[in-house]
Order: sequence, then structure tokens, then C-alpha cells
Amino acid sequence: MADDTLKDRDHKKLGRELDLFTFSDSVGKGLPLFTEKGAAIRRELERFIVDEEIRRGYSHVKTPDIAKLELYKKSGHYPHFKDSMYAPIVIDDEEYMLRPMTCPHHFELFLAKPHSYRELPMRIAELAQLYRYEQSGELMGLLRVRTFCLADAHIICASEEQAAEEAGAALDLIESVTGVLGLKFGEDYHYRLSLGDRANTEKYYKNDTAWEKGEDLLREHLKSRGSKFEEAKDEAAFYGPKIDIQMKNANGKEDTAFTVQYDFCMPDRFDLTYVAPDGSKKRAFVIHRSSIGAIERIMAFLIEKYAGAFPLWLAPVQAKVLPISEKHLAYANEIFSTLRDAGIRVELDDSNETLGKKIRNGKTEKIPYLLVVGDEEVSAKTAAVESRDKGKVGALLLSDLLVRLQEEIRTRA
Ligand SMILES: [Zn+2]
Repeated sequence: MADDTLKDRDHKKLGRELDLFTFSDSVGKGLPLFTEKGAAIRRELERFIVDEEIRRGYSHVKTPDIAKLELYKKSGHYPHFKDSMYAPIVIDDEEYMLRPMTCPHHFELFLAKPHSYRELPMRIAELAQLYRYEQSGELMGLLRVRTFCLADAHIICASEEQAAEEAGAALDLIESVTGVLGLKFGEDYHYRLSLGDRANTEKYYKNDTAWEKGEDLLREHLKSRGSKFEEAKDEAAFYGPKIDIQMKNANGKEDTAFTVQYDFCMPDRFDLTYVAPDGSKKRAFVIHRSSIGAIERIMAFLIEKYAGAFPLWLAPVQAKVLPISEKHLAYANEIFSTLRDAGIRVELDDSNETLGKKIRNGKTEKIPYLLVVGDEEVSAKTAAVESRDKGKVGALLLSDLLVRLQEEIRTRA
């Protein structure tokens, strides 16, 4: 891509032009404010991933955005992750933290009652709001923010074999998600096996044997899938190695979009156990994974990937009704109400502009369907449909138009 095209795709620029999100100095750096349009994209992504995960056997839960500092000391996040956390908030003489991670919350939920081996693997998922301190210089539109919503999950497994299987199932989910989002392996994203550093015991939990085993497990798994991947030293989580799905933004900078992590440390720290068939208590294994990543970050990638021309299911405004003149306004309103009642995100351009200008505006806004209404359409109860991607569709009966839009949305075509 030429440099000017890349710049045109910059999600910060498009976010402003398409009125998707903004920042306010009064609210604070790195804290995005989503407009109605930006929030519509978020909602679609969130619904999509929650439904998809529930279909794949995940249990969606909800846990709080803050917890006692003690919890993060117990998990080890506090010493290892301290620099990325906000200062404690004192409540009733106790220190609380805005959470940087979901893991300890999910483990406490798991610990609320005993679990049989029959319940495992238990896939605990949440759309979790997280808070991390990023230095001002590191902040970058929606890619690097100080609060974000992670499609997170912790899969509690009965054995290493089950953990490996679940890591595979998580990669299957990720590949299915990238398919729906139109992201291509090798082109839009690639795999990275992120390894620890045995010598750096300050950054990584000390347990050489477990690191070797975990890294081999993920490496063998990637090989068995036939997936091409690169290896990167010193990029692991403090509790274990991970498979990162890396994506480049319009400025060529690479970020982790999704991740699957093998954890041999937290099960010990939290004493995560299950009751084996012989009645004994056994140590569990944990996979941490994010499927669609942080909603903010995937939005940034998608804005740049589609240059703002979102597929219908994601488009903040899916159709716009354009009456040619005032006398077509009543029928235009009828189309507008019918589509809105059916759950389509639709707008009506009742301005006094010429039709040419209305069409140009609709195209600048990258709206998938423009519905022109004049004398002919009023008498035939149709709309003259123009598709952003396919050009002139022609006159469609309102009922046929509705079916067409609903089908395209349902299949996320
Ligand atoms: Zn986690």
C-alpha cells in the first residue's frame, strides 16, 4: 500500500471523520469516549463473540472491575505487573486496585465451590473492563489505551493433555473469528510463540522444568496444526509461555491482537483443584485466552482493514433513506420506521439538499445501502437501492429489501 493510502486508513483519522470515538482532555488521556456509532460497532462485536463462545461451551460470567490489592499479591500480578497498574484506592482502611487482569477474579469464582473432574474443562469467560497504566508516549488511538474491554477467558483443565486440547480449541475459535472478520492468515495476522527467559526471575515465575514443558507443549501444538509461526524470546506472560496472534496497524507497528497462554503458576498460587474419579484432590491446569482480544484494539484494526467501509452487520448506520423532495418525505418515513422496527440501523436524510448531495454525503459516510425515494417509488411501494459495494441494485419492494438486509446481517456476509 502506498503511504497516502495507509494514512487514509489510520483509525484515529477515520474515527474522527466517521464520528466513531473521541478523546477529551477533561476525561483523561487514553480513555476513549465512544459515540452512538462507535458504540454500535462495539455492541455487534460483543454480541457476536459472546454468542459464539456460548455455542462453544463457554460460561459467560460477570466479576467486578476492582478488587483488594491482596488478591493481586496472591496472583503475583502485583510485583510482576505493578508498573502497569494504577495506585491503590483506599476504602474502609483497605487497599483496592482497578483490575489489570481478569484471571484472579475467575479463579476466586472457581474456588467458590468444589468441582468434579466431570465439570472440566470449565471455560469461564467474560467481557471484562481492564485498567492498565500506559505511558503517555505509548498511547495510540484505540490500539493502546488506559482502559479496555477484553474478551477474556480462563479454562480450568484436569490435565496437561486437556490443556493442550483446549489451547487448540481456542485457536480454532480465533481462526473462526478472524474468518468472520475477514482477516487473513499471513496477510493480516501471524502466529508468534512467545517464550520466557530462564535467567530473568524478576520478570518470570521461577520453575525451569515447567517452562520447558509448557513451551514444548505449545510449540508441538503449533507444529501439529501445520501453522507457520515465529518464536520470540522474552515475550511470555510472567506465569507461562503463550501463542500470540500478531497484527500490524496502518503505521506498520505490530501489536498482539489475540492470545492463548499456558499457565503452570496460578493453579499453585490459587490452589486450584478438582475431585478426581478416585475421590482425591488433583491440581488443575489453566489456559488463559482472549478470542477477539480487546474490543478497542480489534476495532482499530477493523477500521483500518476496511478503511471505514464496514460489512453490513458491523456498519454503524446500515441504510439511509434519501427522499428526493419534501413530498416524498411521508413514504420515506414509512421505510425508515419499518426498517428501524426490524432492528436495522437506519437514518433518514430529510435535509433540503439536492439528491446528488445527499448521495455524496451517504457515500462519504460509507453507508452500505442508500435508499432513494421519488414519485415512482412512492407509487410502486419500492425503494431505489444503491449498494456501496455492488453499485445500483435497482427498485426493491420494501418487504424484499428488508429480507435482503436481514439475511446479509444474519450471515455476517
Ligand atoms: Zn488471565
